Amino acid sequence: MYTLFQNIALVTMDPEKPLLQNAFLGISDRKIAWIGTAPPPERPDLVVNGQNKVALPGFFNTHTHLAMGVFRGFADEYDLDTWLREHIWPAEAKLTYEAVRAANTLSLAEGIAAGTVSFTDMYFGEPGLAELCLSVGVMGNLSNGATCFSEQYVPQQDRAWRETIELADHYHNREGLIKADVGLHAEYTSNPQVWQVVAALAAERGLNMHVHLSETRPEHDNCVKKYGMTPTALLDSYGIFGTRTTAAHGVFVTEQDMELLRARDVTVAHDPSGNLKLASGVMNLPRLRQKGVRVALATDSACATNTNEMYYDLKLTAILHSGLAGDPTLVSAADSLQMATVAGAYAQGREAESGMLRVGFDADLQVLDLDKPHLLPCHDLISNIVYAARPSDVCMTLCKGKTLYKEGEWLTLDIERAKREMVEIAVKTIRE
Ligand SMILES: [Zn+2]
Repeated sequence: MYTLFQNIALVTMDPEKPLLQNAFLGISDRKIAWIGTAPPPERPDLVVNGQNKVALPGFFNTHTHLAMGVFRGFADEYDLDTWLREHIWPAEAKLTYEAVRAANTLSLAEGIAAGTVSFTDMYFGEPGLAELCLSVGVMGNLSNGATCFSEQYVPQQDRAWRETIELADHYHNREGLIKADVGLHAEYTSNPQVWQVVAALAAERGLNMHVHLSETRPEHDNCVKKYGMTPTALLDSYGIFGTRTTAAHGVFVTEQDMELLRARDVTVAHDPSGNLKLASGVMNLPRLRQKGVRVALATDSACATNTNEMYYDLKLTAILHSGLAGDPTLVSAADSLQMATVAGAYAQGREAESGMLRVGFDADLQVLDLDKPHLLPCHDLISNIVYAARPSDVCMTLCKGKTLYKEGEWLTLDIERAKREMVEIAVKTIRE
């Protein structure tokens, strides 16, 4: 099957050929087979008119808890500690696997319709999410973050450990969609025994690591008080960053922490709207970038930020740091888009096949409809995508060449059922 988009604008994120107008984009099975301003030699099976449309790489949401979509609007306007301990954790204790599956389905649908092709998720019920991703045709780097609130950590008694082993044994690299990541919830919800175990597991199996890091001031300060080291230095001393790591938040990292993150090639997942809403603070993105630390974008959970759509954080990233520093040149629209695409693909270990539009890469992309009042005129495509576009401007999302979403329809999942089950199964479970 050869599909050809013609007369389409392309924002490839490939430094060699970044922008094309009136272009041809050929997709053969899973792969991008042609990019150019002349048509390909092959005869296409299907031609798609790309007039007034732009194709760009799909987004990589590098820190999510998709199942927490069930808590959207459930407990707003609390600080992280109160929010977690008094509201989220008690309600979470009621969640069943069925409820998690229902919430995951609708969150995936929401993200896909807003151009996301891959999710770095941490929660429980992740083998179920792996099945869901395979059935829907979307990518997932999946983990259940290990925790330990007692003296002794017995991995086999920890659901997170058991799910990680199940993901690694049965789902890792399935259909090029799923990656089993090793999850560590955070320094403050675990202990040195856990760090040793999870670091050894990641090293032994060659799996990526996903961890929450220095999200709040108290978390950071308490760690220094307790261990005499910052969370970054402490976790590093236990080998947590020994394999490719995504560290969410990094709001309170020190200069030395930044150097360590850079040396260990850690990607920091930046979710400015979640950090703002929970009043955690603002990550020093300009300084991290100056220090050479890779930063990717994320929404965090829809109970923290009330959305699984990347477009809000895409714009916020491009304006927030300029505003705070009084310097509009610090983070450009192109920088923000790079973090949502290329950097995210690297964080997930998918940079050799995804994250940009390039011949030979997987066809993981989104198409935006530019024929909208709020997207005219178009002096600069990237400016319009980052500063002016809305999630609802996405008219197509493709992953591995397969169309997952097209003009209001989800082609690989039953959206009416997903909406119904969010209410009748997931929400009902937490209210009981
Ligand atoms: Zn999180």
